[in-house]
Amino acid sequence: MNSNNKTNAFSVANSPQVLPDNWPAALTIAGSDSSGGAGIQADLKAFQAFNVFGATALTAITAQNTSAVYDVQSLRDTILAAQIRACIEDLPIGAIKTGMLANAALIQATADTLRECAADIPLVLDPVMVATSGARLLDIEAEQLLIEQLLPRAALVTPNLPEAAVMTGLQVDSDPLVVAEKLIELGAKAVLLKGGHGSETICTDWLVSSAGQLSFDWPRRAGQFHGTGCAFSAAITALLAKGESLQAAVSAAGLWLQQQIGSARKPLRGDLWVLPFSAARESKTK
Ligand code: PLP
Repeated sequence: MNSNNKTNAFSVANSPQVLPDNWPAALTIAGSDSSGGAGIQADLKAFQAFNVFGATALTAITAQNTSAVYDVQSLRDTILAAQIRACIEDLPIGAIKTGMLANAALIQATADTLRECAADIPLVLDPVMVATSGARLLDIEAEQLLIEQLLPRAALVTPNLPEAAVMTGLQVDSDPLVVAEKLIELGAKAVLLKGGHGSETICTDWLVSSAGQLSFDWPRRAGQFHGTGCAFSAAITALLAKGESLQAAVSAAGLWLQQQIGSARKPLRGDLWVLPFSAARESKTK
């Protein structure tokens, strides 16, 4: 890890409610990946790896494995809103993340319902657009709504380089700090710009907010991995639910993700390796 210049003052704008120490809980609003490596299944496994109780609001069902996405069925906006309400009214949710939101109606339902019943809970926005296998997971017409309705609500947005390029209209190889600043201009409070889709031998993630900039350097691993974006944002969400600062959460989640990538497993047929989602070492998160 490489800390350049940078202040320690990262904090989450919407602080989590005070929770019993022994029962941190987190909510994921995302799509189902039948093969279990990405989507809501990855989020739940990542929450569990950090000993955080996971709740879910399902947006869509995908039939997929590590070769391809074969079919997608989005759910009704009203059943999505009902799932979010049901979780929030009953569980001590300390942080929320969004993953695949599929279409404009589901983005609108998410924004409206969070405004109505979860306004004070920190939100991690993973702007999922296209799967590594190539399938679209968000309608193109819905991209602008994601920026308008959810970006300003989020405590952290976690785009990879192609997603950030779509959101900002900048080139995918633009200076990451210029890209992050543009996302902040668009309303983001903090940006984790992930360098995994770059080509350098060192992969750099940037955490940028009004409090400063921090970079994390990781060795680039050969191969392609399924669900890394979901796992990373879910691990950050779990740590925020446990009351960690944004900087500590990003740092510990990044380290955990590297360990998961280092022991990824090869599926029977597809080209994308899957993560084991093994338990985080508690000492690393504090
Ligand atoms: N499928 C679902 C339901 C997802 O939510 C996501 C990522 O958020 C993906 C697939 C993407 O997986 P991959 O990391 O292979 O691109």
